[in-house]
Amino acid sequence: MAKMLAARLHALGEPMSVDTIDVPTPRPTDVLVRVKACGIVPNMANVINNWPTWYPHQPLPKLPAIFGLDPAGVVEAVGEAVLNTKPGDRVYVSPLRSCGSCQVCRGGELSRCRYFTLNGYFSTSRDGQRIFDLYPYGGFCEYMTAPQYSIVNIPDNMTFEQAGKLGYIGTSYGALKHATAGPGQVALIDGITGTLGVASTLLALASGVSKVLGTGRNEELLKRVKELAPDRIEVMRLGEGSSGEWAKSRTGGEGADFVISALGAKAPVETMLDSMQGVRRGGKVVNVGGVADRLPVDVKWLMDEQVQLIGSNWFTTAQGQEVADMVATGALDLSYLITKPFPLANVNEAISGRAADRDGGFSNYVVIP
Ligand SMILES: [Zn+2]
Repeated sequence: MAKMLAARLHALGEPMSVDTIDVPTPRPTDVLVRVKACGIVPNMANVINNWPTWYPHQPLPKLPAIFGLDPAGVVEAVGEAVLNTKPGDRVYVSPLRSCGSCQVCRGGELSRCRYFTLNGYFSTSRDGQRIFDLYPYGGFCEYMTAPQYSIVNIPDNMTFEQAGKLGYIGTSYGALKHATAGPGQVALIDGITGTLGVASTLLALASGVSKVLGTGRNEELLKRVKELAPDRIEVMRLGEGSSGEWAKSRTGGEGADFVISALGAKAPVETMLDSMQGVRRGGKVVNVGGVADRLPVDVKWLMDEQVQLIGSNWFTTAQGQEVADMVATGALDLSYLITKPFPLANVNEAISGRAADRDGGFSNYVVIP
């Protein structure tokens, strides 16, 4: 039996260890991917240190477990029932796992499945361990199995390291789809300097949005975001007045067509509430960030102004493919990403460094197994 290296978490709060385990064999509808890079999201440190305390209803896989949310690599082998994916394909593996056969899954709405699980990360289902048992390989190992429905083909002009960022870029894209972002619109992106914020900005501009208004805390990062498209991006420092009033003042009193709330983990609920007030009549507020508390919303205002408040979580594999296709044509330029690669042996350093990272949404920490 062929062997491989895998970083495994044996106990919460302890470093992962690099173990030698068997290379898995793909089941009929699965593919085997040789992992070339796996992105580390800022939240990974929270997941392996705090999640069972913060969100006990979102279980982690049974330990020892292989984490790693955003793997990209080359298809090594495919199961006998796989028709479209073939060995040698360059791919990103979307970690969204679902049951595949319930009513919403049959309708293609995998993220609404009650088994919704992010492979190599955490589940949102009390029965998530069923999914982790089927797919125990996150991206912090040399080979992983994945269902064929999770595969995004990446173009030649997209590096594996860039593809390791597709999880959050795709999540931003999913949020913009919920916002029905399009030409002529004005976006307000709360938390614009973070991973989701920067990606949302570039995708909104690529989707034809006329202007992006954004808020953040770090002045240096706000400047860097503004430089991405100086005549189409305006930024405001959080804490220097009301973001909602600012958005209205920049849109002739109307407000933004949509608000993307992309604030960091455990950001104060008041920040979101303020920005929501910057949405126009009939606009949409999409929450995709880290605010985690009860939001006191004036529901009469929601009704009178016909504002929609929408939760957005991850993205469909097809949407992931659309992002990859935008990179292929040059509509989306990922050269803003500053990649910091770490060998698998340094996975712990990569995770803890990511948590303290100061480059915000521009940085791209990847593990190279
Ligand atoms: Zn399902």
